[in-house]
Amino acid sequence: MASEHKGVTIWFTGLSGAGKTTINDALTAKLRDRGVKLEVLDGDIVRTNLTKGLTFSKEDRDENVRRIGFVADLLTRNGVIVTVAAISPYRAIREEVRERIGDFMEVYVSAPVEVCEERDVKGLYKKARSGEIKQFTGISDPYEAPTNPEVNCETHKETLDESVNKVIAKLEEMGYLPATVAA
Ligand code: ADP
Repeated sequence: MASEHKGVTIWFTGLSGAGKTTINDALTAKLRDRGVKLEVLDGDIVRTNLTKGLTFSKEDRDENVRRIGFVADLLTRNGVIVTVAAISPYRAIREEVRERIGDFMEVYVSAPVEVCEERDVKGLYKKARSGEIKQFTGISDPYEAPTNPEVNCETHKETLDESVNKVIAKLEEMGYLPATVAA
C-alpha cells in the first residue's frame, strides 16, 4: 500500500524559462519513487483544456490561476500531493488560492529575466521582443514576486538537484512527507 500522507499543493511560480517545469518534472519523479498520490497541473497543459480560451489579460490570468486553484483544492483535500507549475504573475490571486487551499507551499523559481531570455527554452522571448507576442511576463507584462515563499529556488545559482532537494526538505519539514533516514 502506498504510504499515507496529507495532501498539499506545491505551487511553482516564476518567469517563463525560470525552471518551474524542469524542477517540477524532477520533483515528481522523486515523489513517485516514494509512492505518494500525485497529480501534476502544468500551466501549459492546463491552458489547452481546463482554461482553454483564456487570454493573457490580467483578468484572464487571474481566472486561469483561480481555476487551477479550484482543482488543486479538490485534490489536496483528498490526500493528493498536487504540483502546479504556472507563471501566475499576480500576488493577490496566489494569496487567494493559498487561503482557499490551506495546505499550500509556494515555490518561487527565479532567475534574472536576462538569464531566462538567454535560455529562451520555447523561443517565446524572441517573439515577445519582436512584438509577435504581446503581454509577455517580464518583458511587456508585470511579474509580482512572492514576498514570503516557503521555498526559493534561484536557478541561475543552484543546480537542479539542489532546487529539488530544497522542495523535498521543506515538504518533510512541514510534515507532508515522512523524513528520510540518511543512508
Ligand atoms: P519554466 O517552466 O519556468 O518556463 P523550464 O523548466 O521550461 O522553465 O525551462 C528552464 C530551463 O532552465 C531549462 O532549459 C533548464 O534546463 C534550465 N535550467 C538551468 N539550471 C536550472 C536549474 N537549476 N533548475 C531548473 N532549470 C534549470
